[in-house]
This record gives sequence, structure tokens and C-alpha cells, in this order.
Amino acid sequence: MTTDRSPLEPADWDTLRRDAAAALEAAISHLEHRGARPVWRPVPETVKAAFREPAPRGGADPAALLARFTGEIAAYDLGNTHPRFYGWVHGAGTPEAVIPAMLEAALNANLGGREHAAVYVERQVIAWCREIFGFPEGAGGLVVSGTSMATVLAMKAALARRFGAAIRDEGVAALPARPIAYASAEAHSCIAKAFDLLGLGRAAVRRVPVDAAFRMDTAALRALIAEDRAAGRLPFVLVGTAGTVNQGAIDPLDELAGIAAAEGLWYHVDGAFGALAVLSPDLAPRVAGIEGADSLAFDFHKWLHVTYDAGFILMRDESALRAAFSERPDYLAAAERGLAAGNPWFTEYGPELSRGFRALKVWYQLRRFGLDALGAAMAGNCRLACHLAARVDAHPALERLAPVALDIVCFRALPPAGGAQDAADALNEAIVIALQERGLAAPSTTRLGGRLAIRVNLSNHRTTEADLDALVDDTARLAAEFGAG
Ligand SMILES: *Cc1c(COP(=O)(O)O)cnc(C)c1O
Repeated sequence: MTTDRSPLEPADWDTLRRDAAAALEAAISHLEHRGARPVWRPVPETVKAAFREPAPRGGADPAALLARFTGEIAAYDLGNTHPRFYGWVHGAGTPEAVIPAMLEAALNANLGGREHAAVYVERQVIAWCREIFGFPEGAGGLVVSGTSMATVLAMKAALARRFGAAIRDEGVAALPARPIAYASAEAHSCIAKAFDLLGLGRAAVRRVPVDAAFRMDTAALRALIAEDRAAGRLPFVLVGTAGTVNQGAIDPLDELAGIAAAEGLWYHVDGAFGALAVLSPDLAPRVAGIEGADSLAFDFHKWLHVTYDAGFILMRDESALRAAFSERPDYLAAAERGLAAGNPWFTEYGPELSRGFRALKVWYQLRRFGLDALGAAMAGNCRLACHLAARVDAHPALERLAPVALDIVCFRALPPAGGAQDAADALNEAIVIALQERGLAAPSTTRLGGRLAIRVNLSNHRTTEADLDALVDDTARLAAEFGAG
């Protein structure tokens, strides 16, 4: 039999339907039953070895590939869809997310630009972000992979605004002195990474000391700016954090907006997870002042539970972003009509030409659940954080190490009486590893004031009070097992 069918098309669409239905069933079952399994299990050597095979010359059967997904990949996942996952700042996802993921694949849209309906979905998401944060008409932005990338875009836009568009041709080496940024000592490493990437150097980010609640000390900030000006350097960006990664602390955002305006600095806010507290009437007052930012970076994939990866850069003046990135060579020229219309193109707002349709899953999540339900889940997480903090405070073997500003609780098991600091750190490290390796819970660690902390981040909508009560009991039991007082 001869055929001119593409070898990459299904030979039989009904077979594809059955294969896809089996995969959908596996995906939904995975999520339905995830909580009954350990939070995490070490990846066995056999599984690691299974992913060291030579590049395949021939194809494989979909059923065999699905078996590998369930047996080797899903069985040893990260655990962030489990109710007892508390590590770093992770989104927990929603079971519904399998729907837009599937539809996104079917469309295979390229959101670099051009005239097609998907572009209007991303524009809808952009308009919603403007509305959610109370940004003015003329504000805009772009769906990106996450806050790290959003920060690069914002810093690039700030550079071009502050030093002129010629910097795009001449580069930073042509500047008369060194551009300087200010961020708190607790700011995320993505700020310095963006400076590294843009050729400005990580040392150009001044780490402003924080107060006892881990918020930027504004007197110290003013002093550093004055010092840099006196030395002939070029202060140009102030970064406020709405929700530090270590403690969830929120810088005095309003006051920072005032300082930035008075000093002629670009005001950027890193709101990776904390910014979306605006969705809850209970939490919104904590991030008051966020609407004063020139640029705001945040994630959909953390506290909004959109699947990885999806973040956003919101600009007070969208033309600042376009001025920093627009390139329209002949082969990407704008047209008034036809497929090459749809101007401006998204590629003019960021470094990428080809871009996936991340906006679909964001649109779906917001449209499916609504802002109120998503905000209420965040407020619930913050109530859980207070519950955990109270349990820790009441426990004789545990000690809290930071105030609870949002949804993060840092604490430790008390060291053996008279024990050295090193011993206390080793004890808490051992507790966290045991919690993870025994599949009981997955907190992470950080250091606060030189002390190793057990860090519990509650951006997980599946977590309950009972889960946290179990965490307190397990931690105390392990502390006793490993020899604490
Ligand atoms: C997670 C996080 C980042 C980085 O965001 P990604 O989406 O992982 O790139 C930056 N800042 C803060 C405060 C974060 O929590």
C-alpha cells in the first residue's frame, strides 16, 4: 500500500484517541492518589540508569512510554503536588491544569507575534494583570518563564530608560561610570544574576541591611545612595521585595516608592509569590504600595498554582519594555493586514522570537477558578502559617527564628543544652533530611542570623492543620531520636 501520509501523523486516529485517553487517565490518577504516597522518595539507581540510553534510532510504542512515565518518572517526582510539600517556594498545581496543557499542545501556537486568536488571550492576561495591581492605562507587560526572567527584562528596560536607547548599540562599557542598584540583604539572587547577565556585574547590586523583621532598612539605603553618588557612581535602580524567599518579609514598599521618586531611581518590585497577596482582601494591605512600582516581577507558577513555568513582567509604561527589546528586521516586518499584522508583536517586548502559549494555562486557571477563590486559598495558607507558628511557640523542644509575615515559618529544634552552634545546625539539617528521606514531609532549610533553620513554606493549597500538627510531632520525635535535650 502506498501512502503520502506524513510518517509523523497517526496511522489511525482512533488508536491515538485510545493512547491519549490512557495517558489522561494516568495523569488524573497520579494527582487523585498523590497524597497517599510518600512526599518524596530517592530516585533509585535503576531509574537513573534507565535514562542513560543511547539516542534512539527507532520509535517506541506509546503504551511503553506511558509505562515508563508512571513507573520511572511520576513514581519519583519532586512531590510538590503532595499536601506535605513545604520546600522553597513551589506551586502545588491543580488537577484541572491537565486540560489547558493538553489544549496548548494541540494548538502548538507561536506567540512571538502575528495575527491569531492566541495573541488576544495573552493580551487579555496582560490586561488582567494591569487591573489586578491597579496599574494605569499604558501599563503592559509580557508572560515569561518566571520571576528570574522577568527581572532580566525589567533591568534591561530600566537601563535603556535611565541611560538612553543608545546603550543598546554602545553597551554598558560606554557609560561614564558604574550603574548601581539597591536591594535588601534578603533579596533574591535573581537580581544579582540579572546584573551578571546584562554585563553590569553582580557587585553593582548593593545589599542594604535589614531590620529585625527582615525588611529593608531605609536609613541604611539613603546612606548607601549618598555614598555612591559622592563616589561618582550612577545609582539607577531600587528593588523592593514583596515576600522574601527566606521569611516572606515585605519591604516598606510605599516608603521605597517615595525614595525612588526623590532619587530619580527606577523602582522595581520582586513580588515572585508575595505580590499576588493583592487577590485576598485580608492580605492586600500587607503589600500596599506595590502599585507604585515602575516594574513588577511575579510568578503564576508559585502561589497561583499554574503549572510550571509561567511568570510575568508588569511595566508601568509598556513602551519602556518595547524600547529595550524591539527589533523588526525585514523578515519580521509589520503588516497592516494578513497574517503578519497583530502589531505590536510580543517579540518586541522580550529577548525571545519564538514563544510558547503559556498565556493559555494562565488564562484558563484565572477564568476557571476566579480571583476570589485563588486569593482565599492564599489567605488560608497564611492562617495555616499562624497555626504552625503557634504550635512551634508552644512546644518546649522547638524555637521560632523569624516573624511570620505571610506564609513562611522558620524554626528549629532546640540544640542539646550547652551544645555548640555547629551541633544545633547539624541536628536540624539531619531532621530535615530524615523528614524528606522517610517521605514524611518536605520542608527545606535556610540560614537566619547564622543559624540553620527548618523552613516551611505554605504556598500549598492542599496542606491542612493536621498536616502541620504531624510536622511538629515528627520534628520533635526526630530531634529526640537524634539526641536533642
Ligand atoms: C522564586 C523567587 C524568585 C525567582 O523566581 P523564578 O520564577 O523561580 O525564576 C525570585 N524572587 C523571589 C522572592 C522568589 O521567591
